[in-house]
Amino acid sequence: MTTAVPGERGRLTVLRAAWLFDGMSSALIRDPVVVIEDSTILGVGSGGRAPEHGTVIDLPGATLLPGLVDTHVHLAFDASADPVGNLARRHDSEVAEAMARAGRAALRGGVTTVRDLGDRGYLSLGLRGRADLPTIVAAGPPITTPGGHCHYLGGTAAPTIEGVQAAVREHAARGVDVIKIMASGGNLTPGSREDLAQFPPEVLSAAVDEADRLGLPVTAHAHAVDAIADAVAAGVDGLEHVTFWTEDSVDAPAHLIQLIADQRIVVGATVGMVPVPGMAPPPAVAMRMPAMIANMRRLYESGAVMVAGTDAGIAPVKPHDVVRHAPPMLGQLGFSPAEALRAITSVAAGVCGLGHSKGRIAPGFDADILCVDGDPVADPEALHRIRAVYARGTAVTRPGS
Ligand SMILES: [Zn+2]
Repeated sequence: MTTAVPGERGRLTVLRAAWLFDGMSSALIRDPVVVIEDSTILGVGSGGRAPEHGTVIDLPGATLLPGLVDTHVHLAFDASADPVGNLARRHDSEVAEAMARAGRAALRGGVTTVRDLGDRGYLSLGLRGRADLPTIVAAGPPITTPGGHCHYLGGTAAPTIEGVQAAVREHAARGVDVIKIMASGGNLTPGSREDLAQFPPEVLSAAVDEADRLGLPVTAHAHAVDAIADAVAAGVDGLEHVTFWTEDSVDAPAHLIQLIADQRIVVGATVGMVPVPGMAPPPAVAMRMPAMIANMRRLYESGAVMVAGTDAGIAPVKPHDVVRHAPPMLGQLGFSPAEALRAITSVAAGVCGLGHSKGRIAPGFDADILCVDGDPVADPEALHRIRAVYARGTAVTRPGS
């Protein structure tokens, strides 16, 4: 058994199961024994022998895997048919309550870390560190143009160098973990356009430089080809959606795909959807979908760093635990089953800046563990057969358990 250096003996919990996916290796470990001390993984072994003390929990036929990580959620959107309208009708205190409900739903669904890429009034920052919620990495309100995409979240900046610098400084002063900037228009905002960049290139660059100076990573919402190109030139750390949207289609230039891959810019693929009868994507999305999937596949084949940033919360097909539904879609892009699981655990944790503490079952890592029936590498459906969820060493209460 590999163990971290034990300190004062804390509360020990021992999980025994049939298999373990450790977040990194493609091969499952048989008959794992995971020893948890308080909120941290103390040791990982195999062979079924448990240490002499501690509470032993046997999970026969089950696989242990790292708690899931979604790099793009909106706790403030309620996954209803009208998330924007519902948000507008709520006072901040009601929004904070709804966000906590969303977080608990995520946690019950095995999602132990979320990166919130757009709230209202910096409300997600106040939810960080709560024992009943996933670990939250927070962007606050996305920085956007006057009347631009998601302006109603309150992150409007003047579209000038000084304007975005001030907005980035305000976000830093509030204590955000990451800067989200709307480089193009988007679906949820009538009047904004997916096919157009929102900021002049030098303004986008100034925002990224200011964030760099303050030690904050930047991820850019980018549909339009120009917005993607500008964000890449500006040196963003990540891109969300990356649909290469044009007025009537999509167009992904080969050199831009290669640049994204070569510069190790993280592609947040908006994958993961629950089947909801009668719900179809908007026509403008549906008609572009085959080409969008083909372009995502090209990104994958170019070696781009890719994760599932689901946009959880924006529609009924996107509940807050939707990332469990990402692996089959990642499979369509070329991911092997184990690569898909890495994309929603260890790789996603790294993208959230938590590669040292999340996304792996290994000594010293946080004891965020999802336990499912069956083998999720052989059968992605197994991810939905949840037996238990541990968040920082504590079992999450699930209805009926
Ligand atoms: Zn979003």
